Amino acid sequence: MNVFEAVKQSVTTRQAAERYGIKVNRNGMCVCPFHNDKNPSMKVDRRFYCFGCGATGDVIDFVSRLHGIGSREAALMLAQDFSIP
Ligand SMILES: [Zn+2]
Repeated sequence: MNVFEAVKQSVTTRQAAERYGIKVNRNGMCVCPFHNDKNPSMKVDRRFYCFGCGATGDVIDFVSRLHGIGSREAALMLAQDFSIP
């Protein structure tokens, strides 16, 4: 299994969002970091979807976009932060 698969199996987008400082409410909604969002319009679970700007993807896409890094860097960052071997 490669690092991309390992991360996607082990970490949900919701866990990653919370880990990187995004507050997720009990309905699994958060303020979208990808557009100028005032009310939570992004749904995060295993994947994410924003009802405001249409941003969508998996946990690696989320972290890559959030930090402005490549998908490989994002996968490695998640693997490290969530202690995935
Ligand atoms: Zn958005």
